Amino acid sequence: MRRRRQCTTWSCSAVDVQCQRLARHDGPHGASPTSTYERHWSWSDGDPDAIEVLPGTVWFHPPDRARHAKTARRLGEWTALGLFAALLWWADSWATAFVFLALEMLLSVRRARFVDLGRFTAGVWRVTKVAPPVIFGVAFVLHGEGRNAKKAGIEIILGPVVVGAFSLMPRSEWPAYKRSQAAFDAQQKERRS
Ligand SMILES: [Zn+2]
Repeated sequence: MRRRRQCTTWSCSAVDVQCQRLARHDGPHGASPTSTYERHWSWSDGDPDAIEVLPGTVWFHPPDRARHAKTARRLGEWTALGLFAALLWWADSWATAFVFLALEMLLSVRRARFVDLGRFTAGVWRVTKVAPPVIFGVAFVLHGEGRNAKKAGIEIILGPVVVGAFSLMPRSEWPAYKRSQAAFDAQQKERRS
């Protein structure tokens, strides 16, 4: 059996993600922020900064052995964290333990995670490697570039992690987007049947 390996290419743009396709795949690279996310980013080697958001999930499924090793490691980490939190609770207060756990979970985010609420999305992701290091920062997320760009939302930078909430597109573009999305879904359904 051939070993399944993940493509090692990373995107070099504002969305810092590893390609979620198999190694030596054909065509552009792609990655969804989670295994169930219904869209994915797509980019090519020629121009990694030109990222497109396309429908469909692109998510690498690691082989079982790698997954089991990862689960064991996670379990070990959680046990250690749990013990430390219990110690904090006992020595100080439940609030200290809670803050410790919350910060620990936030700062250990490796992959971007997003929750979609219609036109809006909220999520947490890691700071890009090219970004200047910031310990704490607050920034606006804009639609497009330039001084006249509309504000889309806000992001808070906490060391290596960014927490943000913003709208995916201006309200004026949303109906057109929904229509094209519906058309695409219908087309996919037709192709499948
Ligand atoms: Zn790739």
